[in-house]
Amino acid sequence: MTKKLFVKTYGCQMNVYDSQRMQDVLAPLGYQPVDDAAGADMVILNTCHIREKAAEKVFSDLGRIRKHKKAKEANGTDKMIVAVAGCVAQAEGAELMRREPMVDMVFGPQTYHRLPEMVARANRAVGRDRIIDTDFPAEEKFDHLPQQVSRQGYSAFLAIQEGCDKFCTFCVVPYTRGAEYSRPGMDIINEARQLVEKGTREITLLGQNVNAYHGDGPNGGEWTLGRLLRELSEIDGLDRIRYTTSHPRDVDDDLIAAHRDLPKLMPFLHLPIQAGSDRVLQAMNRKHDGASYREIVTKLKDACPDLALSSDFIVGFPGESDKDFEDTMQMVRDITFIQAFSFKYSPRPGTPASAMELQVPEPVKTERIMRLQALLAEQQLEFNRKCLGREMDVLLERHGKLEGQLVGKSPYMQPAHVSGLPESALGQIVRLKITEALPNSLGGELVDAPVQNRDSERKIA
Ligand code: SAM
Ligand code: SF4
Repeated sequence: MTKKLFVKTYGCQMNVYDSQRMQDVLAPLGYQPVDDAAGADMVILNTCHIREKAAEKVFSDLGRIRKHKKAKEANGTDKMIVAVAGCVAQAEGAELMRREPMVDMVFGPQTYHRLPEMVARANRAVGRDRIIDTDFPAEEKFDHLPQQVSRQGYSAFLAIQEGCDKFCTFCVVPYTRGAEYSRPGMDIINEARQLVEKGTREITLLGQNVNAYHGDGPNGGEWTLGRLLRELSEIDGLDRIRYTTSHPRDVDDDLIAAHRDLPKLMPFLHLPIQAGSDRVLQAMNRKHDGASYREIVTKLKDACPDLALSSDFIVGFPGESDKDFEDTMQMVRDITFIQAFSFKYSPRPGTPASAMELQVPEPVKTERIMRLQALLAEQQLEFNRKCLGREMDVLLERHGKLEGQLVGKSPYMQPAHVSGLPESALGQIVRLKITEALPNSLGGELVDAPVQNRDSERKIA
């Protein structure tokens, strides 16, 4: 019998991938995804703990779910299993159970392969049998997930690495996701082949520290990310490859060479720097300084001159002075980023930075983030404007907001729209002449018929 499964995903792309895999795990039990929590047989909130706001959102959403559960269970026979998964579950599982009596199940990012057992227990339960599973099991979750992945979009995520051993002083990831782990190379190749057979043309490799990847190769040796990218680019029908999120410390020569040699590897790299001041970077335990970041960017751009960068920034880290913040602004002016995520520092319980003295007052954080975001927005718009009049290959993925509009991504991750193409153009890589440059997107006109396997438009000065 078909059962309705509602999954809500918060936070990063890894959570998007995990939610998809949870659906794959539950499909054999008859659970089919639905778009609304009302009336669902199971609701999973796949949560994020990276900043306080993200975690708080979960508690406010649970208030709404409570009403749906009451309505569903009003007749005394139907049941709605409410589960909280992901990093809030991992970090605050017991507290969550205490605060929210209607939550039936709490499980962390490393245990969702055990979902069938948990669901069976919850369904069998007479009265309340509440389940909490936030272990870091010795067995690898990836070995226990279904070998078959379901059909994804034309652009899909593929997790290759998980966890982190870097312990930046502000970050919860090493505590919620656990130690660094890389999947065997051939498992990744097989998953990529399946995705391509099911229609995917672009794959983004995921990991909290994706370029720390060091998975077992088929013949005993280890594969680096550079090697894995080379192997993946041999797959026919896979036209575009990306990877995220990288750590500057783990950019090695092999990876730089991959950017030089592989046309399928898109000329866009998300390389978080966090801050421009060496003093702050050291207090963050980032294991790189401003000079080494600049050096890496120079090497990458020598290898791939059209490479464009995006980054993550934290402002208001404990002890950040006006001068430290100016170093961040200068770094942005010097390097230039075409996209970026910037955050006010959010103290996370249990992390070393949350106990540091000299926490920066909220109004100072606000003033700094506004200045930083204004500069980053300026750089993004300037890059978009430079694209005017150029031709770019765009992978069309979905319908746009306007009637007859299709939207996809440029090689540089800019959303780009075009009008007047038939529905059948979805999933095609088309060459557009860019005629419109907005702060966050581009518009274009078709230059010629859909192309297969064409190298990305390179060189935007
Ligand atoms: N592994 C990546 C790296 O090394 O940069 C980042 C992973 S984290 C999921 C994504 C981003 O969230 C970080 O790059 C950082 O900018 C931000 N972040 C993490 N902890 C934060 C905190 N306590 N307060 C504000 N932003 C934070
Ligand atoms: Fe968090 Fe990234 Fe630092 Fe790891 S490297 S602790 S995931 S910010």
